[in-house]
Amino acid sequence: MIAPMATAPPRTSHATHDVTNQSAPLAGYNVFDADRPLVEAVSREGGDFGVERIRSVGEIAGRAETIELGRLANENPPRLRTHDRFGNRVDEVEFHPSWHELMDVHVTHGLHALPWREPEPGAHVARAAAFMCLSQAEAGTGCPISMTYSVIPALRAQPEVAAEWEPRFQSLAYDPRMVPSPEKAGALCGMAMTEKQGGSDVRANTTAAVPLNGGGAGGEYELTGHKWFCSAPMCDAFLVLAQAEGGLSCFLLPRFTPDGERNRFHIQRLKDKLGNRSNASSEVEFRGAWARMVGEEGRGVATIIEMVNHTRLDCSTGSASGMRAGVAQAIWHAQHRTAFGKPLIEQPLMRNVLADLAVESEAATVSSLWLARQFDEAHGGDEHARLVRRIATPVLKYWICKRAPWHAVECLECFGGNGFVEESGMPRLFRESPLSSIWEGSGNVQALDVLRAMVKSPAATQAFADEIGAAAKAEPRLDRFGGALAAELQDPEGIETRARRLVERMALALQGSLLVRFGDPSVADAFCASRLDGDWGHAFGTLPPGVDAGRIVDRHAVDA
Ligand SMILES: Cc1cc2nc3c(=O)[nH]c(=O)nc-3n(C[C@H](O)[C@H](O)[C@H](O)COP(=O)(O)OP(=O)(O)OC[C@H]3O[C@@H](n4cnc5c(N)ncnc54)[C@H](O)[C@@H]3O)c2cc1C
Repeated sequence: MIAPMATAPPRTSHATHDVTNQSAPLAGYNVFDADRPLVEAVSREGGDFGVERIRSVGEIAGRAETIELGRLANENPPRLRTHDRFGNRVDEVEFHPSWHELMDVHVTHGLHALPWREPEPGAHVARAAAFMCLSQAEAGTGCPISMTYSVIPALRAQPEVAAEWEPRFQSLAYDPRMVPSPEKAGALCGMAMTEKQGGSDVRANTTAAVPLNGGGAGGEYELTGHKWFCSAPMCDAFLVLAQAEGGLSCFLLPRFTPDGERNRFHIQRLKDKLGNRSNASSEVEFRGAWARMVGEEGRGVATIIEMVNHTRLDCSTGSASGMRAGVAQAIWHAQHRTAFGKPLIEQPLMRNVLADLAVESEAATVSSLWLARQFDEAHGGDEHARLVRRIATPVLKYWICKRAPWHAVECLECFGGNGFVEESGMPRLFRESPLSSIWEGSGNVQALDVLRAMVKSPAATQAFADEIGAAAKAEPRLDRFGGALAAELQDPEGIETRARRLVERMALALQGSLLVRFGDPSVADAFCASRLDGDWGHAFGTLPPGVDAGRIVDRHAVDA
């Protein structure tokens, strides 16, 4: 007998992979237009003439393709080639094509040169805003861009050197070829101060400068020594500190000598860094490298500080940019993710977290753009701006950069587990966040610089106090905070030990004053209640009852 065929049991579905309740990527939006505090700040601080350019950068920064370039540039970090196949030194760094594409966007939009190419009122503001937008897609490329922007005022200490190099540094052509600068369509500049034995204490530099033809300002020198950190070593020239006979001096050191030979600038290795991985940071040796002195012999710090002041501005705007990127992402995710029956954004405690992060981001944006305006006005000859900039630059560099890692980690947590996963982009944001606090003078160095500036210039101290006082009558909490701060500043006892605390409070008073005068009322109120009046916890998400968290979050949401 033939057994009947067994009939197969009905198939049950084993599919487990329904994708639900995951937020879509935030892409395809204009990073500038979506950022209300930034749009308002650009207009308020005089950057209107650059709006179309900022908008164009904002559109590129928000494209999915640009965000992908940022990912690729960081996942394919640069590689050092010290020698060619015949054994000749070449000292070149190879980058992934994505790096070059991003650099091209920066340079063709003038983010490395705008205020010098077009010295309009508001040019530093417009450039800072565009820089904030593009840095949200990728932050590492900002390093050579910022250094090239910043070198110009220092270079002008030596007019004939400036006359030769400024047109190259201000060109809108990105030309990454490793050839002598006169053959290039455009050039970029880096800086090399830090040595193994001391970065903050640059007076400990041992790199030696020997004159070739008598030396002196503008003269030719041979430099021998090492630099422990030299970022973006593919730049065409570097502002360098070295010891001449008359003391620490500033030099411009190009990658090629005037006769077209490779300069004796030897890249020893690239650093394996926590973040900023798209960008190359190297250790270099100068073995009798050719350079020209910029500024007076023995006045190296005074000369290069002009460059450092501008990169410090970028440290603030760069950190503000990271905060904005984090807030935009966190709010977006909370709008599109449901938990316990409603979107995260409607959960009161999540709203408190997001509002608190938004307040911090807005304070950073408002104060960075205000600082950029002080640069505009100081370059235009305004005395108040010159004075207030002297103190406000290290104050804001200290505080905004210090807040960035705490802010980034909390934005990351808004994504839950997804935020810990590389693909979300949040780990990269987090790894990037401590950097601006370290370079261009780390936290303690900034705090001590503020004390030094206050001692040296009572007029600068007064200018800073005036900025806080301008809003104090309108806001009793600011008035009380400012009064207590003034008393603390009067007390010389242990002032160096207390420097961080003082500078933090100076930053809070300044940000409070700017928000009260110019900011959104709900943000200003939340800032004063939490940061000035002490009604706040130690983590983000501890704003007191009564603040208008809904309005604050709406203001910062991206309408993509
Ligand atoms: C990714 C990256 C890229 C960089 N790129 C460049 C570059 O292109 N060119 C360049 O020149 N440098 C570069 N740097 C170096 C950077 O500027 C220095 O690391 C920084 O200035 C600190 O110097 P340092 O590392 O020697 O630390 P130190 O000077 O040894 O400082 C160590 C700690 O001591 C503190 N400190 C120092 N002095 C005092 C004091 N008097 N009182 C209290 N505390 C103090 C500092 O705040 C810091 O926390 C880069 C650094 C990084 C991380």
